Amino acid sequence: MGKALIIGCGGVASVAIHKCVQNSEVFEEICIASRTKSKCDALKEKLDGGKTKITTAQVDADNVDELIALIEEVKPDIVMNLALPYQDLTIMDACLATKTHYMDTANYEPEDTAKFEYKWQWEYRERFEKAGITALLGSGFDPGVTGVFSAYALKHHFDEIEYIDILDCNAGDHGYPFATNFNPEINIREVSANGRYWENGEWIETKPMEIKRVYNFPEVGEKDMYLLYHEELESLAVNIPGLKRIRFFMTFGQSYLTHLKCLENVGMTSIEPIEFEGKQIIPLQFLKAVLPDPASLGPRTKGKTNIGCIFKGKKDGKEKTYYVYNVCDHEECYKEVGSQAVSYTTGVPAMIGAAMIMTGKWNKPGVYNIEEFDPDPFMDALNKWGLPWKESFDPELVDSEPVKSVE
Ligand code: NDP
Repeated sequence: MGKALIIGCGGVASVAIHKCVQNSEVFEEICIASRTKSKCDALKEKLDGGKTKITTAQVDADNVDELIALIEEVKPDIVMNLALPYQDLTIMDACLATKTHYMDTANYEPEDTAKFEYKWQWEYRERFEKAGITALLGSGFDPGVTGVFSAYALKHHFDEIEYIDILDCNAGDHGYPFATNFNPEINIREVSANGRYWENGEWIETKPMEIKRVYNFPEVGEKDMYLLYHEELESLAVNIPGLKRIRFFMTFGQSYLTHLKCLENVGMTSIEPIEFEGKQIIPLQFLKAVLPDPASLGPRTKGKTNIGCIFKGKKDGKEKTYYVYNVCDHEECYKEVGSQAVSYTTGVPAMIGAAMIMTGKWNKPGVYNIEEFDPDPFMDALNKWGLPWKESFDPELVDSEPVKSVE
C-alpha cells in the first residue's frame, strides 16, 4: 500500500518498526532514519527478509533542511515521528514543506522548559489544512489509546461523559533499584513536574505526587498511584463535550519515589545547565547517561501493565460507569519483539495510527488529536495487533478508596 519514513530508532520506534514489518500489506516499504544510523542498520539486519522493504538513513531531526532533503529523497506517504518531543516542530515544518502526512506520540516540549502543551502544534492547524495533509498527534498509549478509548466510550456507551480517570499502572519489576521504562530525561521531567487536573473548566495544580490513591487493578492487584499532569488531559478537556473533570494517575513503587526524591534533593534532575570542568552540562542529561538504557530492561522485566480509562456519565438519562483497559505482559512483549511492555504499548498504537492514515481510514487535512477521529477501526486494530482491550460496566471507582496521605 505505501511507504513510511520513521524518525528515531529507540525503544518505541523499535516496537513500531517490528509491527510495521508484521503489517507488510500496509507498510510495503519503510525507511528508518535516526541520529545514530548504526542502530537503524542493526534493526534492519534483524528484520530484513520479510515482505517489507527496509532502508536506513542518518538524519539530525533538529535540522529542517536535512529533514526536507531526506523526505524528498525517500518520498514517503507519512513521516512517523518516534524521536523525542523536542523534534516535533522541525519534523512538522519539513512535512509541510514536502506535503507529507505526519504523526507522533508525544506533544512538543521546548528542551529548556519542562512544559507540556499542545499550543505550539495546534498553531499548525491552518497550514496543514491548506497543504491538504494530516497531522495525527499523540498516537501512543497515553496519549493515544486513552483518547481512542474516550472517543469509543462517547460513541457507543454515553450520551454525555462527565468524569474521566485515566489509570496507568506498570507493575513490572526489572530488578534494578532505579531505572526508567522509557527515555529517562522525558520520564523524569514528567514525574517531577507539578501535578494538574481539570475540573469545572479550570486547571487545578498540585505539588508533584501530592495526591495519592490506591487502586485494585484487574489482573495486577492493589497499587499506589499518584495524580500527574499528562498531555492528553489538555486535548480531551476540549474534545469531550460536557466533561466536568478529568484526571490522570500513574503507579509508582516506593523505591522509585525514594530514589527520585534523593536525586531531586541533590540537584540531579535539574534541566538548568551547570559548569563542570570547564564544560556546560545539564544534570538531568548526565543522569540519563549513567542510568540503565531503557532498552536493556526488556530481558529483565517481569509482570504486567494495565492502562485504561474509567468513565462516568449518562446514557438515556441514567447514570452509567464504564472501564476499558488493556493488560500487557512484559515477558510476552519481549518474546515477540525484544522490548518490554512500556515500549510495546506505545509502539503498537504508533504503527496503527500511521496505518489509519495510510489506508485512508483517517484522512482529514489539518492537525488533530487522536480522539477527533472515528475510534472503531483503531479499536479493531488494537485487538488484531497485540493490545486487546477489556471492559467492565461495574468498575471500582477511584474515589471509593480512602484518600491516603503521602508518607
Ligand atoms: P528513546 O530515547 O529510546 O529513542 C529516541 C530516539 O530518537 C533515539 O533513536 C534517538 O537517537 C532519536 N533522536 C533523538 N534526537 C534526535 C535527533 N535530533 N535527530 C534524529 N534522531 C533523534 O525514546 P523512546 O523510544 O522511549 O521514546 C520515543 C518517543 O515516544 C518520545 O517522544 C516519548 O516521549 C514518546 N513516548 C510516548 C508514550 C505514549 O504512550 N504516548 C510512552 C512512552 C514514550 P539516538 O539513538 O542517537 O539517541
